[in-house]
Amino acid sequence: MRISVDFDGVIADASAFKVKLAKKKFDLTLRPEQTTGAFMRRLISNEEYDEFRREVNGIYTLQTKIVPGCKKALGLLMIEGHKIIILTARFAHEQGFAKKFLEVNNIPYNHFLFVAEGKKRTKKEVINKLKIGAMIDDYYDNLTNLSGSGIGIYLFDQPWNRKNKIDKSDIIRVFGWTDVLDRIRALSAEKVELVR
Ligand SMILES: [Mg+2]
Repeated sequence: MRISVDFDGVIADASAFKVKLAKKKFDLTLRPEQTTGAFMRRLISNEEYDEFRREVNGIYTLQTKIVPGCKKALGLLMIEGHKIIILTARFAHEQGFAKKFLEVNNIPYNHFLFVAEGKKRTKKEVINKLKIGAMIDDYYDNLTNLSGSGIGIYLFDQPWNRKNKIDKSDIIRVFGWTDVLDRIRALSAEKVELVR
């Protein structure tokens, strides 16, 4: 099965770093769930936030943390025959840093794709085109429009998405990479049953 995995918030977690940088640059004391663009833009100007984002998603990407269990789970999924497609909405100039992060941390994957690059291409279009069987993302709005498509849709639990009440029966909140692994294994076992 092809599995689409988001980068920020699912593989790399910059929230602790953003908390530190926000304090240093703007003297803001934030909780991890307050480090989103939507929240921070209410406290600082758009220009300030854009620069903050450029730094976090730029050279500082290498200082962000790996989400616990990610490397092992991705490795196991690949051994079990799945294809891992990292799908990010990062801007073009930010992607190299994400790739570097994957490389220096030895994170296993098959392909790295992006949806931004000036075009209004959504994750949904890419997912449909590539015949993705499961999608993991920490941004609820990326998942809602895939509801009903028959694929496994997983919201990766993070402090900033806990306010999202899941209102679609086929979207499942997953708690960490062990949970992801269990869910994907169950989903592929179900598919094997169907073809028998
Ligand atoms: Mg994300």
